[in-house]
Amino acid sequence: MITFRELYNKIVEESWQEGASRAEEYGAEFDKSQLNCLFNPEKHPVAGEIAQCIQKSREGSVKISKDVLACMETLAVKQALAYVLIAPSFLGQFDEQVTPGMLRNAFRELGFDGMVEVAVFADILTIKEALEFDKNIITEKDYQLTSCCCPMWIGMIRRVYSDLMPHVPATVSPMIAAGRTVKILHPGAVTVFLGPCIAKKKEAREPDLKGAIDHVLTFQEAKELFELLRVDLTTYADREKENSSRAGRIYARAGGVSDAVQSTLQRLNPHRKITIKTRMADGVANCKEMMNELVQGKVAANFFEGMGCGGGCVGGPKVILDKEMAKINVNEYAGKAIYRTPIENPYVIELLHRLGFDTPESLLEDNEFFTRKF
Ligand code: SF4
Repeated sequence: MITFRELYNKIVEESWQEGASRAEEYGAEFDKSQLNCLFNPEKHPVAGEIAQCIQKSREGSVKISKDVLACMETLAVKQALAYVLIAPSFLGQFDEQVTPGMLRNAFRELGFDGMVEVAVFADILTIKEALEFDKNIITEKDYQLTSCCCPMWIGMIRRVYSDLMPHVPATVSPMIAAGRTVKILHPGAVTVFLGPCIAKKKEAREPDLKGAIDHVLTFQEAKELFELLRVDLTTYADREKENSSRAGRIYARAGGVSDAVQSTLQRLNPHRKITIKTRMADGVANCKEMMNELVQGKVAANFFEGMGCGGGCVGGPKVILDKEMAKINVNEYAGKAIYRTPIENPYVIELLHRLGFDTPESLLEDNEFFTRKF
C-alpha cells in the first residue's frame, strides 16, 4: 500500500528530472511551524469593542444584523478557542490592498485565535475526489458528479435528480471539513465561516453536518463587522504566507473544481486508461440543462461540476467585489501558489498525516472529518 508521503516523494523526484529550479521550491519553502495555527494556536483576548457594540445594539443606538450580532455574542463569552474559516473567494473582497496575512492579523486583534484558509481543505477534498474518480470510473459508462463545494448544486441533485445520487461521492464541503477538523482538534472551539454564500447558512444546519460551523457570515456581513468595530484592514502587517495549492485556490471560480481534480488525478495516476473528461455548468438554469442532457445520454463526459451561481462563488449573492475582478484576483492568487496540486504540497501531506490519513485508502474510508451520509 503506497502512502501519501511516498507519492509526494515520487512527485518531487520526477520534478527534479523535469528541471531543478521548480523542484528546489518544494522542500525549501516547507516550514512545519506554519501549521501551528491549527495545532498549537496562540490565544488572543477578545477586543473590548465587541462588548461595547453588543451593549449599543441592546440599547438600540446601533443597528447590527442578526447573524453578526449572534457571532459577536458568542465571541464575547468565548471560553475556548475561536477560529475564522475563510472561503477561497476572499481575495480582494474587503480592499484591493488587503492580503490574507493582513486579514489574519486583524482577526487576531478581534479575538480570534486562528484564521484557517478553507482552500487548504479544498486541497484535501480534491485529493479525495480524484481518488474517488480513480476507484469508481472503470468503464466508459461510469461518471462522477462532483460533490463537495456547492450546496445549491447538491440540493438540486437531491431534490430533482435523486436517482443520480449514487454518482455523488459522500464527501463534505471544504467549509464543513475545516469546521470539523477544528472541532476535533480543539473540542468546544468556536468556528465562524466567512464566504459569499447564503446557502452555506442552511448547509451548516443540515442534520448530518450540523455542529461543525457555529456561525456563517457573508463577506457583506464581515464588512459590517469591520465597520462596526472600526477595523481598518489596510493598517495591518502582512507577515505570514498561506499554504494552499493552486488547486484549492481556484475552487472560488467556475471550472475550478474540475481543473483541480483533473490536474491532481494526472499526478496520481498519469497512465489511466479512461481519462477524465470534464463538463461544467454555472448558474441554476445551466446546471439543470446539463443534468437533463446527462439524463438523456447526450453528454460525452465523465466528471460533472455544477456551481449554483454564475461564475461560481466569485459570483455569489453576498460578494462585495465585481465577479470579473474577483475572478482575476482568484486566478492571480492561484498563480502565486508554489504547489500546483495538493499531492505535491508538503503542508497538505503533513496535515493529512497529523489527522491520521497516511494512505489513499484511509482517505476513502468513512471518517469523521471528510465524509457524510446523504
Ligand atoms: S456557487 Fe453560489 S451557491 Fe454555490 S457555494 Fe458558491 S456562492 Fe454558494
